[in-house]
Amino acid sequence: MTVHFPFQNTYAALPANFFARVAPTPVAAPRLIKLNRPLAIHLGLDPDILESPEGAEILSGKTLPGGADPIAMAYAGHQFGHFVPQLGDGRAILLGEVIDGDGIRRDIQLKGSGPTPFSRRGDGRAALGPVLREYVVSEAMAALGIPTTRSLAAVVTGEQVMRETALPGAVLTRVASSHIRVGTFQYFAARGDVEALRSLADHVIARHYPELLATERPYQGLLSAVIARQAKLVARWLLVGFIHGVMNTDNTSISGETIDYGPCAFMDSYDPAQVYSSIDELGRYAYANQPRIALWNLTRFAECLLPLFSDDKDKAVEEAQTLLMTFGEEFNLHYTTGLRAKLGLFAEHEDDQGLAQALLDEMAKGAADFTLTFRRLSEAAGDPEADRNVRQLFTEPEAYDAWSERWRQRIGQEPQSANQRQALMRAVNPAFIPRNHRVEAIIKAAVDGDDYRPFEELLTVLSKPYEDQPEFAAYAEPPRPEERVCQTFCGT
Ligand code: AMP
Ligand code: MG
Repeated sequence: MTVHFPFQNTYAALPANFFARVAPTPVAAPRLIKLNRPLAIHLGLDPDILESPEGAEILSGKTLPGGADPIAMAYAGHQFGHFVPQLGDGRAILLGEVIDGDGIRRDIQLKGSGPTPFSRRGDGRAALGPVLREYVVSEAMAALGIPTTRSLAAVVTGEQVMRETALPGAVLTRVASSHIRVGTFQYFAARGDVEALRSLADHVIARHYPELLATERPYQGLLSAVIARQAKLVARWLLVGFIHGVMNTDNTSISGETIDYGPCAFMDSYDPAQVYSSIDELGRYAYANQPRIALWNLTRFAECLLPLFSDDKDKAVEEAQTLLMTFGEEFNLHYTTGLRAKLGLFAEHEDDQGLAQALLDEMAKGAADFTLTFRRLSEAAGDPEADRNVRQLFTEPEAYDAWSERWRQRIGQEPQSANQRQALMRAVNPAFIPRNHRVEAIIKAAVDGDDYRPFEELLTVLSKPYEDQPEFAAYAEPPRPEERVCQTFCGT
């Protein structure tokens, strides 16, 4: 009996040049290694069926569930600043859309499910390591409360993929509020297809920004709304020490979710110039460069929308420029508000940004661990004795003492109790992030030893990042020097 999914496929109903109809390529021996049961339930899918042998076939692309209309989406994109007019889903296939428990439409997509007309020279497959990395990091982001695509399942295919060596193949089932990217707009803009741009923009507005439907200038509203979501997203990344690694325009989601986890990483010791990705030789996508790159990507998005703004080109450009200027303010608002909470400040004060920056500067100089500094600061807010746990994170602990005095003076002016302050700080300063050495370790156990227990345990820890979880205290620790991961590699 075929399993039926409650699919509604609005993207597949768009004009034929938006995608290629293509079915997944069956794999030899699919085996489910992880199902995200709570997410399955939220999506209205039966987790028991997905965990059955037939489920593994569906989640590997070997069997199509009833109701699916599989497509590979067309898109273009700027990769490291260079425009590529045709990228598209080269190894991903959208099965369809479901409405989740919150009434939100979600794409269900297989990643690594075989070649498509957009594969170029690629094999359409994914290796187990990058699939597990995306699973762990995207679920960690969700638990941190940061907009992201989700991971529904991971399946090993029973086949090998050839990379530098032969590696076990895998398929990730990814869930997104849509897979529409800045690059999707660029695909049609590059072809001068204004009708397609309008259809795409209308689809996006109906799907992600319905509040614009009744407005007079919906396309200007769309640009403004996407700017606001990206500004907030990147601010949230910075506030947890996340480095996306490949912020190409094809990896920039129109819905404002974090998408396409490749050589991404959370930093250990704070360094604004930190880069992990092996292919980012010039540091284009370094930690502190991310806001600037987001604005660059949004500028490419704005260029696509110009023909929808006005027939008067100059007027359209002027409108776009005015809207793009709001990015800095939006970003600063979210970033400063976030830093204020990280420092446990309830009231706004002129010097808040200065106070935060002074700490960050000392952290950079003293190679202090980003996550632990703020987490331990949360403890120190309630107990000055706990200052010693913070100061020992700095190569020269005295650097912290001077700052701490300034900080205590500032919080001393606020009426809130130490408990209230700690509660505020603990809710925004995670104890647990997917540290690179932990992610590498779970991948090694799975790939070399077919052992998924470390993967499961890491997922458990990361599902409650803001709780202490004393039994898992070791997961909060930075890597020892010999465990340090200096480079991450692309997902391909
Ligand atoms: P990414 O670096 O994952 O964002 O991918 C960039 C482009 O390369 C996208 O168009 C992908 O679909 C495509 N791509 C990446 N890996 C593969 C692969 N193994 N086979 C086919 N296409 C791929
Ligand atoms: Mg991509």
